[in-house]
Amino acid sequence: MTDINNLRDKIDKITFDILKLLKERNDVAKEIGNLKNNLGMGVTDEERENQLRVRVLTLCKEIGLDEKTAMIMLNFLLNESVKIQSSNKQTHLSIFLKAKKMEQDGKKIIHMEVGEPDFLPPKIVKDALFEVYDMGYTKYGDSKGMPEFRDALGKYVTEKFQVKTPSQNILVSPGARFSIFLAISSLLNPGNEIIVIEPAWPAYRDNALNSGIKIRTIHTTLEGKWEPNIKDIESAINQNTKMIVLNYPNNPTGKILPVELQDQIMDLAVKNDLYVLSDEIYSTYAYKPWKSILTYGYNKSIITQSFSKSHAMTGFRIGYAISSPEIIEKMSKLQALALTNVSEPIQYVAMKALEADTTNNAITIKNRVESISKKAKTMQLDFVEPDGAMYLFVKVRQDNFDSVDFTNKLLDAGVAIAPGEGFGNYQGFVRISACQPEDTLNQGMQIIEDRLKCKQ
Ligand code: PMP
Repeated sequence: MTDINNLRDKIDKITFDILKLLKERNDVAKEIGNLKNNLGMGVTDEERENQLRVRVLTLCKEIGLDEKTAMIMLNFLLNESVKIQSSNKQTHLSIFLKAKKMEQDGKKIIHMEVGEPDFLPPKIVKDALFEVYDMGYTKYGDSKGMPEFRDALGKYVTEKFQVKTPSQNILVSPGARFSIFLAISSLLNPGNEIIVIEPAWPAYRDNALNSGIKIRTIHTTLEGKWEPNIKDIESAINQNTKMIVLNYPNNPTGKILPVELQDQIMDLAVKNDLYVLSDEIYSTYAYKPWKSILTYGYNKSIITQSFSKSHAMTGFRIGYAISSPEIIEKMSKLQALALTNVSEPIQYVAMKALEADTTNNAITIKNRVESISKKAKTMQLDFVEPDGAMYLFVKVRQDNFDSVDFTNKLLDAGVAIAPGEGFGNYQGFVRISACQPEDTLNQGMQIIEDRLKCKQ
């Protein structure tokens, strides 16, 4: 008995020592975060992380520790540092919330920070809202979505993407954001790794962090036309890698990948048995040929879609995921746990919205993107002409440009735009959204130009 008690005392002491060291490590991570901030550096440094990884593996050999366990532990520690260092990061959402607050206080703001179409949903949506009460859609329902809506979505997807999609491959969710949360949280485990190609919409990273999953960032550049290097992806894959996220047409760059490159990424994913989470929410805003991941017929792909952008229905909170029935089952279990089912009246309205012709929405946004891009070319801004989506992701041609400082000052001047750092290590960039009428966008662009000149 004394033996076990002694050993228990010993194990307790080791546990306390580990926790004390964790506290010390977190304090150091915070200090490093402050320094990075002062130096204008981003949070993620893949090269540094890789050096540490190699040293940890060497240590494992020396002390006889299982490498897989060590890597999971290391991923946990690296995530702790990222969380600590990201806590003050400003994103398009933080600017949006600040702008909303200023509006409540009576200030007029031009919203060029969020991807929210200013136009109304199709007229059929209004009619459906009137009808739905009498239709009797007032009760709890199936967590995967209403059978008639899933059937309608199956037919819609089959026709639109020319890929046979039965209703059991569809999960109705309250927006693409929730489908992304479901996919990451229900398919991956703490310590697993996910590959995110940056610049990227911040929710992939934030969802992964929330679930204790390590993000491996693939940095792409304006000079490289926002195309990821396939070798970079290949070398980021290891035994803990479980998923790669794709988002084309891309937010924030508007990029559509060349088909050969997309094919190569899919080959890699299949070869390494990775989930492919393809967020295709901007597919109706593709201004160049674009190929859905659905067309690859890969049973570990999850495609997210939404009515937010295509049908200008952001506030309805309705979207859907397309995947294999096994994956849909896993995602729907978590959905049932979190919210029982998606509001049936809203599902009915979205089902009716499928009948609407939304081609004009794409034309409107395309014209607006072209209009701000024409103006941007005359300013001190560098960018790649977008192939789709609703944004310009521009680099400001100024030394030591601080996008957070600039976007906050610009907000005081009445224009909201998104700082680049919300999308990865892009401190010198800002994202300008084209979701307002052209006159308003022109006014906004003029104020941006004036403010940029002030800075020199
Ligand atoms: N994915 C991307 C790439 C987005 O840009 C957005 C919204 N800006 C979403 C998903 C969220 O979509 P939803 O409103 O359907 O949750």
